[in-house]
Amino acid sequence: MDKAPPSDTPSLILDGGNSIRPQKRIFIGLLVAVSLLLVPLLALLWYVPYVGFTQFHPRLPLILGIFFGVLVFLMVGGVFLLTLTIILGRDLFISKKLRGIIVKIVFPLLIGVGRLFGVRKEQVQRSFIEINNQLVLAQKIRTTPDKVLLLMPHCLQFHDCAVRITGNVENCKRCGKCHIKGLVEISDKYGVGLAVATGGTIARRIIVERRPQVIIAVACERDMVSGLQDSYPLPVYGVLNHRPHGPCFDTEVDLVRIEQAVQAFLS
Ligand code: SF4
Repeated sequence: MDKAPPSDTPSLILDGGNSIRPQKRIFIGLLVAVSLLLVPLLALLWYVPYVGFTQFHPRLPLILGIFFGVLVFLMVGGVFLLTLTIILGRDLFISKKLRGIIVKIVFPLLIGVGRLFGVRKEQVQRSFIEINNQLVLAQKIRTTPDKVLLLMPHCLQFHDCAVRITGNVENCKRCGKCHIKGLVEISDKYGVGLAVATGGTIARRIIVERRPQVIIAVACERDMVSGLQDSYPLPVYGVLNHRPHGPCFDTEVDLVRIEQAVQAFLS
C-alpha cells in the first residue's frame, strides 16, 4: 500500500533527496551521450529518404518527419524526467514505468555505450543500481514489516561457521563473527523477513514463497544487476556488499544502511 512518506526518511539512502552522487552522474551522463548520438542519427534517417520518398507520396517526408520528431521528443523527455525524478527524489507519476524502461532497455544499451567511452562495466552497473534505488525510493512505498524482505547472499556467513542458516536464519547463534548476527537483530527489531540465498534460483524461490512487497537485497554488482532485472517489476532496493577478503568469501555489509532502508519502507 503506497502512502505519503514520513518527513524523517533517512537522509543517507536518499542522498538528501536533492543531490546527484558520482555513481548516478555516470548513468545520466551516458544517457545524455546516447541521446546526443541518436538525435543526429534520427535526423539523418529522416533527411536521406526525404529526397526520394516524394516520388512515392508527396506527404511521406512529412509523416516520417513527425514520426522521428516524436521519437526524439520521447527520448529527450525520458532523460529529462529521469533526471528530475532523481534530483527531486519524488515520484513524477511514472517512476515505476521509468524503472522498467531502464531495467529492460536502457541499461543493456548503456553497457555498450560505456565501453565506447571507456567507462568500466562495473561503474555502469553501480550507477544503474543507484539509479534503480532512487526510483524505488521515489515510489514512496510504505508497507507492513511482513511485506519487507531482506534477501542476503550466503557469502556473508563466516566461512567456518557450522550453523546452517540457509533454511532458517534464526539458527544463527549470534556469535558476531559475521554480519548475519546484525541482520538477524535488524529482522527481529523491525519484524521484517530475512532470508539467505545460495544463488539466483534459490533467491527466486524465496521471493515466490514469501511474496514480499519490497526487497532489500545485498549482493555484488553482477548478481545485483541480474537480480534487479529478474525480479522486475518487484521493487528491489540494492545494497552492494563489501569484499575485504576477495569475492564470495566472508563478505560484509553496511548494517546502518540496511536498517535505514528498512525504516524507509515501513509505514
Ligand atoms: S553470527 Fe551466526 S552465522 Fe555468523 S558465524 Fe556466528 S553463528 Fe555463524
